[in-house]
Formats: sequence, C-alpha cells, structure tokens
Amino acid sequence: MFLVLGNATIDESMAVEAWPAPGQTVVVGTPARDIGGKGANQALVLARTGAPVRFVAPIGRDAEGDWVASRHAEAGLDTSSLIRVDAPTDRSLIFVARDGENAIASTVAAARSIDPDAARAALAGLGAGDTMLLQGNLTGEATMAALEEARARGVATVLNPSPMQAGFPAMLPLVDLLVLNESEGVQLGGSGEPETIAAALAARSGGIVVLTLGGRGAIVRGPDVRAVVPARTVPVVDTTGAGDTFAGVLIGALWHRRLPVAAAVAAASVAASLTVQRKGTLAAFPSRAEVEAIFAAN
Ligand code: ATP
Repeated sequence: MFLVLGNATIDESMAVEAWPAPGQTVVVGTPARDIGGKGANQALVLARTGAPVRFVAPIGRDAEGDWVASRHAEAGLDTSSLIRVDAPTDRSLIFVARDGENAIASTVAAARSIDPDAARAALAGLGAGDTMLLQGNLTGEATMAALEEARARGVATVLNPSPMQAGFPAMLPLVDLLVLNESEGVQLGGSGEPETIAAALAARSGGIVVLTLGGRGAIVRGPDVRAVVPARTVPVVDTTGAGDTFAGVLIGALWHRRLPVAAAVAAASVAASLTVQRKGTLAAFPSRAEVEAIFAAN
C-alpha cells in the first residue's frame, strides 16, 4: 500500500497578459478550475502506475470540499480517506503568463489543521513493504510525527520538501528517498554544483536523493547508486506539474514496479517530459495507458 499524506486544493488558473502590479487590476478571461495540490497531484500520478494508493488529505465541510471529493472520484482516486476539517477547503489562485511562467497564491488552513495525532493515524494498518509519500504542505509537527510513525512501523518514507519549511533539515535522517529540485536542495543547506548538493544531502539522510534540474534532468545519489539521468528534449508548453509527475512515477516505478533506481528515474523523466508538453496540471498528467507504455519501453 502507498500512503500519500498531503493537501488537496481547488486550483483556479487565470491567463494574464501582464502580471498585476501593486494597486493594479488586470482583466482576465474565464478562469480554469480544477483540483490540485501537490498531495493530490502526486497521489493521482502514483495511482496511474497501478500502485494501490491511500490518499489522506484534509478538505473543508463546505461546497468546495464536496466538489474536490467528487472530482477526485471522477479522476479515479479512492476518496474514502479524505478528512473533513472545520477550516475552509484550501485553494490556489494561479496566474499564468504567455511564456508559461506562473505566480501562485495558496491558502493552507485545511492542510495546517492536520495535527500530529491525525498524521500518525493516517498510517493505521501499514507496515513493512508499505511506502509513505509526504510533501511540504502539512505543519512541520505533523510531518515529523508521520515520519517517526513510519519509521516505527517499518514503512518506507519519501519526502518531497515543497514548499520548504524550516524544520525539514532535521527530518533528513528519517527519509529513505528525498525528491527535490535544486533550489530546495540549497534551502536544505546544500551548496555548489548539483552533484555536490545531492551528495551532501544523501550523506546527511543516509537514503537516496533524487535532485531534479528541470530541462537539465536529474541527479541520483545514494549508498549504492550514483547516476545522472538527462531530461528528454521536447517542445515545452507549460512546466506546471512536472515535479509532481516525476515524483509519482518515480515512487510507483521503484516500489510498485520494482525497477532499479536509475531505470525508475529514467521512467519518471519520460513521464514528466509528457507533462511539460501540455497545458495545465491535471489535464497534462500522463494517462494510465501512457504510463504503462513508458514501463513497457524501459
Ligand atoms: P514544478 O515546476 O512542478 O514545481 P520541480 O521544480 O519540482 O517542478 P523540475 O526539476 O522543474 O521539478 O522538473 C522535474 C523533472 O521534470 C525534471 O527532472 C525533468 O525530468 C522533467 N522536466 C522539467 N522541465 C523539463 C523540460 N523543460 N524539458 C524536459 N523535461 C523537463
């Protein structure tokens, strides 16, 4: 079983001709509305590798929460582990410029309302052979509680420390697989060339580190592995969701399909190269059939 413990949001995307400056209003067309949140995105992509996923995320007791739950069900996720909380359902306002660059404002009240007890409870019934995936949207206390509970139960742990939080460096020894981008690597205390950052983080965690470098690919460092996996050269339309696609496929490839680390990273990079060629986030993720085709070819 794969536990994804994270956030679920409503994302509202607006295409802007120019960024709104302080004191200014910009007029936009009809916003595109869909489910989002790094937790939901990674759970959806992981499920498309065929992995059995328990997705635990907080949503409000509001109409937005109902809508998020129904969209998750339509997208093929089991919604029975979504938690209803008193806070309003989290949402993100995403401004997307013509060149694909984006600026995002997000609320986190629902995600931050998961306390350490609820985080530990999400692991009920899990043990050796199971895997837990966390991102950076829950509180540091809840994230730490989940990692400690996973260690006590023998559950493998994956952390994608995005958005970064002050307490994350102390969590590295509890992480079996760290998936992060270069700026997150620097925020965790790494410096210098990407290889040096990955090697330093791997030494501190004792596990595997996969440092993603956008169009430059990814670097893998771990006790028994050292690899550089180039990105595919493709026509890029919108890079939103590349990191979530990469993380979801990587984890399914490693622990569900049992591929060696370098092959799993290669499969994740092919999957992410599909996402960057399409607009949007959910709509850009590779389908179950596309993910299968990637595994068949690797
Ligand atoms: P996100 O934009 O989703 O936050 P991120 O910063 O977490 O992404 P990146 O390092 O930008 O993650 O991208 C993750 C992976 O996606 C890369 O390692 C690569 O395999 C693929 N990827 C990203 N950008 C490109 C690109 N321009 N061309 C091809 N592949 C890409």
